Amino acid sequence: MNDRAFQQCIDPDCAATYALDEVLFSCRKCGALLDARYDWDRCEVPKSLSFFAERWSTVGRGPKAIADYSGVWRFRELLPFADVNRIVSIGEGRTTLQQADLLAKNIGMKPGHLFLEYEGFNPSGSFKDNGMTAAFTVARMLGRRRVACASTGNTSASMAMFASASSPAELPPTQAIVFIGSGKIAYGKLSQALDHGATTLQVAGDFDACMHRVAELTDRMGIYLMNSVNPFRLEGQKTIMYRVLQGLDWEVPDWIVVPGGNLGNSSAFGKAFAELHQLGLIDRIPRVAIINATGAPTLYQLYEEQGVRWNSGRYNKQQVDEHYGQLDAKEWKAVTIASAIEIGRPVNLSKALRTLEVTDGLVRHVDDAYILENKALVGRYGYACEPASAASVAGVRVLLEEGIISPDDRVACILTGHGLKDPDATVGYHTGMNTKAVKWPEPSPPTGKMANQPIPVADDIDEICRVLDAGP
Ligand SMILES: *Cc1c(COP(=O)(O)O)cnc(C)c1O
Ligand SMILES: [Zn+2]
Repeated sequence: MNDRAFQQCIDPDCAATYALDEVLFSCRKCGALLDARYDWDRCEVPKSLSFFAERWSTVGRGPKAIADYSGVWRFRELLPFADVNRIVSIGEGRTTLQQADLLAKNIGMKPGHLFLEYEGFNPSGSFKDNGMTAAFTVARMLGRRRVACASTGNTSASMAMFASASSPAELPPTQAIVFIGSGKIAYGKLSQALDHGATTLQVAGDFDACMHRVAELTDRMGIYLMNSVNPFRLEGQKTIMYRVLQGLDWEVPDWIVVPGGNLGNSSAFGKAFAELHQLGLIDRIPRVAIINATGAPTLYQLYEEQGVRWNSGRYNKQQVDEHYGQLDAKEWKAVTIASAIEIGRPVNLSKALRTLEVTDGLVRHVDDAYILENKALVGRYGYACEPASAASVAGVRVLLEEGIISPDDRVACILTGHGLKDPDATVGYHTGMNTKAVKWPEPSPPTGKMANQPIPVADDIDEICRVLDAGP
């Protein structure tokens, strides 16, 4: 534990503070979410972001080398709650910003202006590893050996991988407890949780119900909660933005475009930029566009349709509660092919509102057909991502059409998860087949513009040549 880091309630009228080692996921006084906070004057903050660049090339075995190698902990001065000697790392966050000129050209952006932050390239295949390394480091500090989460898939995959990979040999393994609901879970993700030995509870309820139950369980049984209400997870996820900046030689882009589910990433990104600005490490803040799925549009409805604003922390909670009351009354559930963002009651809503204020952000929604179309386009031009991730590129196109993003803005899309996470969605799109119970897309023939169907041929070389000659 250290004396320069603490936790603080995000409600400015409460602003209660708690020690670093208090296990809390909301303010004991008022129920609001908590932030990890630092007394920056007592931290060693570098004068310039370029300080971090040289650590990129470190490899080796000691604790410092392990920290340098991690794309999260090489920025450790900006998340100074952890002791560098006791970090739990599996080599997460070694992702880079990719300049996507072919994709840019195809969607009407100028070359050199569209970038993809390819978080699928993490050990467990999604950005969740950035947060998990931070939360596991805290779990180790606290001596917690049982961890739990509710998950649409990637949180559990990441948590299960960290639990199995980081258990010290001299102790019984860390137990990972995963709650999955009746909503969609991509098999790639479920397979990871099972393979890494997580205790997997299939709850008869949706994601929002699982979230509720896991919070109750962890509270009652003293299990450490790994969902993004854990403020330390979001500290790790701040580094995604540091790497975007590094990929642009520390220049600030005009736009960050990110899919919004439970809104942990959106929340972390706003905090990252607010802190960098406060510390004088950047001179302006990019705009953040959060993209919902049309089938899970809660943030869009509240922010864009009903005008709910963070309002320096005094946001209209009653209006949010009324909105949720109406959803409950209709027994409404989120439904989208983009299972990672199939969430109707995002736990980090308030922090995401804060991000939207700090970054002059906005929210859009994109439907499943458009998500899949753009997923195929991203794949066609070199990057495999899962459906939720492609919502970011779909969102850029919507904002280009609206004239809000201009073709020569610099835009970074966060590709949150790897394409192999959900092959059913991909094969379904290209062939029209339902590869499992999910009824999407409509049974054959495929309707997508980018559909690339396998061609049946006889086991005959003449016919194979003929087919290829007549090909596209
Ligand atoms: C978790 C996840 C999201 C949603 O992120 P939030 O931080 O919950 O908004 C989006 N895409 C993928 C691939 C994810 O795993
Ligand atoms: Zn409070």
